Amino acid sequence: MDDMKKKALEYHVMDGKPGKLEVIASKPCVTADQLSLAYSPGVAFPVLEIAENPLDAYKYTGKGNLVGVISNGTAILGLGDRGALASKPVMEGKGVLFKRFADIDVFDIELDTKDPKKIIEIVKAMAPTFGGVNLEDIGAPECFEIEQTLIKECNIPIFHDDQHGTAIIATAAMMNAAEITGKKIEDLKVVVNGAGAAGISCSKMFLAAGVRRENLLLLDSKGVLYKGRTERITPEKVEFLIDTEKRTLGDAMVGADFFIGLSVPDCLTPDMLKSMANDPVIFAMANPNPEIKPELALATRDDVIIGTGRSDYPNQVNNVLGFPFIFRGALDVKASKISEGMKMAAAMALASLAKEPVPEEVRKAYGRDFKFGKEYVVPKPFDPRVIEWEAVAVAKAACEEGLAADPITDWDAYRSTLKK
Ligand code: NAP
Ligand code: MG
Repeated sequence: MDDMKKKALEYHVMDGKPGKLEVIASKPCVTADQLSLAYSPGVAFPVLEIAENPLDAYKYTGKGNLVGVISNGTAILGLGDRGALASKPVMEGKGVLFKRFADIDVFDIELDTKDPKKIIEIVKAMAPTFGGVNLEDIGAPECFEIEQTLIKECNIPIFHDDQHGTAIIATAAMMNAAEITGKKIEDLKVVVNGAGAAGISCSKMFLAAGVRRENLLLLDSKGVLYKGRTERITPEKVEFLIDTEKRTLGDAMVGADFFIGLSVPDCLTPDMLKSMANDPVIFAMANPNPEIKPELALATRDDVIIGTGRSDYPNQVNNVLGFPFIFRGALDVKASKISEGMKMAAAMALASLAKEPVPEEVRKAYGRDFKFGKEYVVPKPFDPRVIEWEAVAVAKAACEEGLAADPITDWDAYRSTLKK
């Protein structure tokens, strides 16, 4: 860990430049002529065009390829509330990933307020700047109100990645794990441990993917969300209160097929794992320490499929498989929002891609081969096909739902623009 700390701090000051992002001009400005075009007086002409026709902002400015990564630092990674300023390395990091994986530019914005109304007002006022907004590391329950209100009030995509990025990849993993174990989604008994930003969003998406409501048990720090419980019930938890005698995680795990942990380290015991159905699936995603260590899970049962949020174990559920490509697809058709259909299209694309043979580049990047099965249920982030599969799926869904201000007609041509 000390070695990692040293390396990480050095990385952030490397090349004599503090931080990980910079702004680069995309037009030349070396002559007096160019100066008068880039700025006054020439710049007045695009101003007038845009004032006349707002969509011209996409033609004459960087808006259409610019995402605002916006946080208030109340839920940074698994580190809790560390404040707006301390969230900046994460938001810059998100910018690096947007650029590296999908060639999207980012302004990172750290807001020093916890007041949802204020955040809504500020982000809404900033919407003209951006083609889309990625809300990041904003804690529950405030994140729900902030995102829902902004979606209603802005006509650009607003996407809280801690909720939906996780849900999209977890849903792809869930669908594929069901297929690998020969189980039907509508028969799966699912336990979601953790009812915060990620747990609620994953639960909603599992239902949309075909899991039956009566087969889904959601738990928070007080145990199972059952009908009649009143303690720690927030509006988002209400729809998951079900009629059941089960009260604890131990109760919930008996006979379960699929466990997804979005809670705290080491809360899943070997006895609980033993009580699950045959071929159980565990996605233990508390970061950095999962609900059960993969070594312990595998030592407890040899029929288990295990995934985590980490890159040093198989089946990493990594949000980087989602947000760069989802925004790529949404921006490319000038989508007004990222709908449930677009999210599901992203999950289906990831699930399908995992079943394709892995190309040489991926084998090289990871120094090994991957084959659809217990240790490879979702694609790898460095798989160059992810952008093509996922951005196309998202853009198509936006067009089909009538959410695209600039629909694509020639999909082959679009696909080829995505290939590096
Ligand atoms: P969050 O909004 O703070 O929610 C945490 C939830 O966990 C709350 O519902 C809380 O219960 C519940 N909880 C706390 N202790 C618990 C316990 N002993 N048993 C069951 N539930 C418990 O956090 P979040 O953003 O959803 O993230 C949750 C965890 O998932 C974090 O560790 C995060 O790093 C991880 N995560 C991983 C990935 C990934 O790997 N790709 C993505 C997203 C999140 P109350 O509602 O009662 O407070
Ligand atoms: Mg996050």
